Amino acid sequence: MHWVDEFRDPALAPRWAQRVAALAEPGRTYRIMEFCGGHTHVVHRHGLPALLPPAVKLIHGPGCPVCVLPVGRLDLAIELARAGGVTLCTYGDALRVPASGGMTLLRARAQGADVRLVHSAAEALRLAQQQPQREVVLLALGFETTTPATALVVQQAEQAGLRNFSVLVNHVLTPAAMQAILADRQTPALDGILGPAHVSVVTGARAFEPVARAHRLPIVVTGFEPLDVLQALVLLLQQVRQGRGDVAIQYRRAVSWAGNERAQALIEAVFERREAFEWRGLGTLPHSALRLRPRYAAWDAERRFGLRDRAVPEPKGCRCPEVLRGACAPRDCRLFGRACTPEHPVGACMVSSEGACAAEYAYGLAGRAGAREVPA
Ligand code: SF4
Repeated sequence: MHWVDEFRDPALAPRWAQRVAALAEPGRTYRIMEFCGGHTHVVHRHGLPALLPPAVKLIHGPGCPVCVLPVGRLDLAIELARAGGVTLCTYGDALRVPASGGMTLLRARAQGADVRLVHSAAEALRLAQQQPQREVVLLALGFETTTPATALVVQQAEQAGLRNFSVLVNHVLTPAAMQAILADRQTPALDGILGPAHVSVVTGARAFEPVARAHRLPIVVTGFEPLDVLQALVLLLQQVRQGRGDVAIQYRRAVSWAGNERAQALIEAVFERREAFEWRGLGTLPHSALRLRPRYAAWDAERRFGLRDRAVPEPKGCRCPEVLRGACAPRDCRLFGRACTPEHPVGACMVSSEGACAAEYAYGLAGRAGAREVPA
């Protein structure tokens, strides 16, 4: 497949890995965070750590949408789903993430709640049109990648005068998470970041310029094939050697400097920043998440149902908060592969294939024997 196969060429991978090795100065360690869960998946799936010199350490970041959703927000969704007359719609991975007491949306459905798996925000909107006697709530989550689709259905609901549709908004902002990680004392000092690609398609690579400038840290927006990651590592190490801290784009076949300006305008029209939002693992971060503007209050599930945030502890023994900050590796968690597996996840990082624990369980650091696929 054009644009894919040439970035998976097994003959080229060792050559790019050699270029990385040639740039690594003796006696130095390079800590590079792959911010996005998609990159974590690629790194493990293709056994990239085994190709890289030991001096280059890849550290997982928080870029998995369901992983950063705190337990308290999931509790709200479950509470709503159990309320009479409500149909709760959401995307696949969110159904299996454990909330308080190990409850999940999937279990709530098994107990009679009307929980629907949707593949798009538009599907949830259609459901509301088809069943006007029920309240249909979309549990919307994710980074800037999924935000435009949510904005669009809210505008469409307004245009159609649809009053039985609302959105529980959990859209978060990537640059805020990067700033929080770089300020966190438990996260090891980083030499560079593999920047998120899907997010950058919307925001443009320029969204990360303030982060790179503030921390003098190279950020290279990277694609999702193994050669993309290896090329990005070359670009990162070149910057480190030159003492630079700039934003660069490796994934030029999809990402531009300015991004999708129509999508940005749509987000701006429908959403405003929350003063603060709690992230799993990163704590409460100012101006790091979105909510609907007052004009769209009628479609805001929080206002409509009087929902209030509450702080809820992580499952006992789960180290997801540290995994998400790069402060520990999945295998440092005593529950990894024992009490916590993709079939029976204890924490959010074991649920989605983009979660660091799930990726490491499925593929192992260098293609562990018996490694298994994460269930969809
Ligand atoms: Fe949490 Fe499971 Fe990962 Fe441990 S292995 S940090 S319990 S998700």
